[in-house]
Amino acid sequence: MELKKQISEAFASHFGGEGTFYTSAGRINLIGEHTDYNGGFVFPGAIDKVIMAEIRPNDTDKVNLYSVDMNASASFGLNEADAPAEQWARYVFGVCREIIKRGGTVKGFNAVFAGNVPLGAGLSSSAALESCFAFALNDLFNGNSIDKFELAKIGQSTEHNYCGVNCGIMDQFASVFGKKDCLIRLDCRSLEYEYFPFKIDGYKLVLVDSVVKHELVDSPYNKRRESCERVAKRLGIETLRDADMEMLDAVKSDISAEDYMRAKFVIGEKERVLGVCDALNRGDIATVGRLMYETHEGLSKDYEVSCEELDFLNDVAKECGVTGSRIMGGGFGGCTINLVPDAIHDSFIATVTEKFNERYGHAPKIYDVIISDGARRLEE
Ligand code: ADP
Ligand code: MG
Repeated sequence: MELKKQISEAFASHFGGEGTFYTSAGRINLIGEHTDYNGGFVFPGAIDKVIMAEIRPNDTDKVNLYSVDMNASASFGLNEADAPAEQWARYVFGVCREIIKRGGTVKGFNAVFAGNVPLGAGLSSSAALESCFAFALNDLFNGNSIDKFELAKIGQSTEHNYCGVNCGIMDQFASVFGKKDCLIRLDCRSLEYEYFPFKIDGYKLVLVDSVVKHELVDSPYNKRRESCERVAKRLGIETLRDADMEMLDAVKSDISAEDYMRAKFVIGEKERVLGVCDALNRGDIATVGRLMYETHEGLSKDYEVSCEELDFLNDVAKECGVTGSRIMGGGFGGCTINLVPDAIHDSFIATVTEKFNERYGHAPKIYDVIISDGARRLEE
């Protein structure tokens, strides 16, 4: 059933009558991996996988939620001590609290929500949920006086303070700022951003989820960060954002071979994001694809955050004639993002599914995505 219809039926039966509809989206990142903590660029966009909510103030100091997908209800007050036990409700509670902490207003409301962002697949369903409610509560109770960057930060702080996830700003940023047919280059140092038209007539974006997760991501992630910090320190700069290969090669003999490889990837990745933006401006999709493959190679060989399954998916994409393919996200499992010519779209999906299944005993999950609008109120 259509999402909106499902929600409005549930709203009518749980709370009676109608509320206002809001939505926000999951996201992809076309290129720019492990760049955020190095002060570099990321290049995300919102997608056509969304969270949608119907909300109505209830003139009390209580929030009553019904999650269609969890088939569960939760209620909480708006004070810090009122945190709900249900994890899914903590995302909404956190957003309320973070608005209040910033001096904004949140009063009691009833809400029903549902979504089609796959959970935990690397498309950031949690950011979609946070930004849907952040946008809605700004509209309903604050006359839209909270600016969009602050809405993204409210989502990020929700993850930090109420969900135990120490994430960067990219996911919530993309979810709030997303625009149809546009990717957004975010400078993680200055937080300046720029929209680039993402017109890929003749191609589709396809995510292939390996459904594996290999390591506790924390410790390799921290080790990568430490390598980058050591090299930046040796170069006398704040972050690797300000380094180039010439500078790196000049200190090669003073740093470990491992630190060298890590920094080489980060420096290359900064250039690749800029290269992809230029290529998109020229409509040069072949170059976009080539740079995606280069990123995969760098993540696999220099940054060493790939795994057998992801390298396998990348090899199959190459064999099938996919224009660009790479790991999306931190690595050690999760998805690849693929730029696929329309003509081979169906055959690629059939081939990658069959080959992966043959080798690893389970099928990957496939998600077609279209770059779409982010957080907004749904007009009738
Ligand atoms: P992701 O990578 O998709 O963001 P997370 O683990 O960060 O994965 O967030 C997933 C969590 O967000 C779920 O466990 C749930 O608590 C909440 N969530 C996401 N989508 C929904 C939904 N449609 N309905 C209820 N809760 C959701
Ligand atoms: Mg998440």
